[in-house]
Amino acid sequence: MKKQRSLAFYILIGMILGIIVGILFQGNPNFAVNYIKPFGTIFLNLIKMVVVPVVLFSIIAGVISMKDIKKVGSVGVKTIAFYMVTTCIAVTLGLIFANILRVGGGYKLAGEALTYEAAVAPSFMETFVNIFPSNAVAPLANATMLQVIVIALFFGFGIIVAEKKAEPVVKFVESFNEVCMKVMSMIIKLSPIGVFALLVPVVATNGPQVLLPLLKLILIVYLVYIVHMVVVYSTTVKVMAKISPLTFFKNMIPAMTMAFSSASSVGTLPLNMECTQNMGAKKEISSFVLPLGATINMDGTAIYQGVCAIFIAEVFGLELTIGQQLTVILTATLASIGTAGVPGAGMIMLAMVLQSVGLPIEGIALIAGIDRILDMGRTTVNITGDAACTMCISAMEDKKINKSSNNKTVSN
Ligand code: ASP
Repeated sequence: MKKQRSLAFYILIGMILGIIVGILFQGNPNFAVNYIKPFGTIFLNLIKMVVVPVVLFSIIAGVISMKDIKKVGSVGVKTIAFYMVTTCIAVTLGLIFANILRVGGGYKLAGEALTYEAAVAPSFMETFVNIFPSNAVAPLANATMLQVIVIALFFGFGIIVAEKKAEPVVKFVESFNEVCMKVMSMIIKLSPIGVFALLVPVVATNGPQVLLPLLKLILIVYLVYIVHMVVVYSTTVKVMAKISPLTFFKNMIPAMTMAFSSASSVGTLPLNMECTQNMGAKKEISSFVLPLGATINMDGTAIYQGVCAIFIAEVFGLELTIGQQLTVILTATLASIGTAGVPGAGMIMLAMVLQSVGLPIEGIALIAGIDRILDMGRTTVNITGDAACTMCISAMEDKKINKSSNNKTVSN
């Protein structure tokens, strides 16, 4: 935990230094663009490099773990449905708020530091057909993310169906997934240098006012975090678990504080189990629903990705069509399966969401410096969503048990 904090500290230092050095180079940005920016490009290249194996293996591993879900039957299906529906709502809320409040603040980047040619947007049907690859290797090489996800889903299901014969593959996928996570965390450790090298040329070419829209971005992202928690989680725990939202949030304070300070869903898992069990969740439900949620359910991350996609589009002077925004909903929801519950993972997955609609991943350059601030909030939302689901599923199971025992007494 100490290490994670110090990384955040260094990222902040990288950002502040980047702004200062950028201001020094203002009016004469050539050195910054020619000699500092390449290090930022290396950082972005590494993110691009790792995103395909991370998505591929984490989704296959996620699907494989469904084998257990099949065993757990109805609880598994209900849990996945709850997770998917709330994540869809989360990213949709993010897109709605970002569009209405014009998250880019009408700010457009000038200069060459981050110029970008807009890709021509395909129609919705074209996008739909394009999700299904005609080649199993090309999408991996070209980082066509939706196709990579489809490949991962099909091969994941194939592994489940092949049962015993696929055992070596299961082992390979699980172990390579672990390796991918380690590679990802190495790259995340480079963030302070990446943030510095990316910011210097941007500030040198555009002036420090380029960072002002970031404040608006932070405020809007947090607004949507709060709206989502208050509206969606309050309603679900009230209606499905018959718990007053106030009691729910009060009991969740320890886990939420931990999530906020550690920016890690996985790290918050033990505390989240305790909080939900204190509220009366059944142990067998929380010990199944929460770990699954810490791996695949990331409502906060989905909100962040939705708002950031619109932000980057606006800052680059691009407009996302409705079809593209629907693609963002789809990819951000699926990305939540592939996002690891560790600090900074959502930013790597943001690259995938951006790539799926042809937005420049260079936009991450702007966000990287404040990512930790956004990460703290999104992790808090992520684990609160897992807890809300646990309370609801636990209440539903209780009801089922009561009903069947009542029926038994009646028939006796
Ligand atoms: N830090 C987040 C979590 O652990 C993941 C992310 O970066 O979005 O839930």
